[in-house]
Amino acid sequence: MIVVKIGGAVGNGSATVLDDLAARRDYVLVHGGSEEIDRLGVALGRPPMHYTSPSGVVSRRCDAGEMEKVVLALSGKVQTELVAGLGARGSRAVGLSGVDGRLLLARRKTGARAVIDGKVLHLTDDFAGTVERVDGELLRGLVGLGIAPVVGPPALTADGLIVNVDADAVASAVAVTLRAEALVLLTNVPGLLRDPGDPASLIARVPSSEFSAALALAGGRMKKKLLAARDAVAGGVPRVAIASSRSERPVERALAGEGTVFT
Ligand code: ADP
Repeated sequence: MIVVKIGGAVGNGSATVLDDLAARRDYVLVHGGSEEIDRLGVALGRPPMHYTSPSGVVSRRCDAGEMEKVVLALSGKVQTELVAGLGARGSRAVGLSGVDGRLLLARRKTGARAVIDGKVLHLTDDFAGTVERVDGELLRGLVGLGIAPVVGPPALTADGLIVNVDADAVASAVAVTLRAEALVLLTNVPGLLRDPGDPASLIARVPSSEFSAALALAGGRMKKKLLAARDAVAGGVPRVAIASSRSERPVERALAGEGTVFT
C-alpha cells in the first residue's frame, strides 16, 4: 500500500498524479485544498482571516464561517473532482472526509490566543484540530474491495465537532496506521530547497540526525510537510518523500527516489 498526498496550492499538477495512481491498485490518495477554500471565500465575499499570537506567530483563523468554506471547497469540490478524475481513468474511487465513518478522529486545539487591539484574547470559536486516530480498518476494507479511498479534511472530534486538520499530517497518520510501504507528499516545488527561489538547490536526503537543520530551512507550509515526513519516519514508514507533482510520472519518480527522501 502507498499513500500519496496531492498539494492544493497553485501550480500543483493533478492529471499526471491521477494517471500514475490509476495504474496501481493499492493506494490511498490524500488531498488538501487551501487554494480552493480561498477562491471560494473570495467568490462569497468572505476571504480568509488571520490572527497573531502573543509570541508573534500568524495563523489562519478557523471559525464557524471558515469551517463552512472548508467543507464546501474540500468535500464539495476538490474531492469530488479527484474521484471523478480517477473514475475517468478506470479506477473505482470513493471520497471520504474525516467525518465520514468517523475516519479521522481529532482533538480540538484549545488555548489559541490572539492579540487584538493590544489585548490578548482567548479564541473560543476556533475549530482547528489535531488528528489522533485513523480508522485503518475502513481504509483497508475499501482497498480490499478494489476501491481507492480519496481522503481529505475535515475531521471529527469524539463529541462530534467538525474540525479542520492539516492535510499533510492526515497523510502521515494514514501511512503510519496502514503501515504503508511509502508516503509521497507531492507539492509545487521539487522538494525541500536550500534556497526556496532556486529549484536546483534540492536537498535530496534528510537523515533523521539532520532533521532540525532541514526544518530551519523550511518556510511557511513547507515546515508542516517536514513535520509530517518526520512523523511518518518515526512511525515506521520505510519510504517517505516530498517531491514535485509537476513532472511526468510524479508518483513513480518519487518512489524511485526523486525529491527529498527522509530516512
Ligand atoms: P502544497 O499546497 O503543494 O501542499 P504548500 O504551499 O503548502 O504546498 O507548500 C509548498 C511551498 O512551501 C512551496 O511552494 C514554497 O513556496 C514553500 N517553501 C518555503 N520554504 C521552502 C523550502 N526551503 N523549500 C521548498 N519550498 C519551500
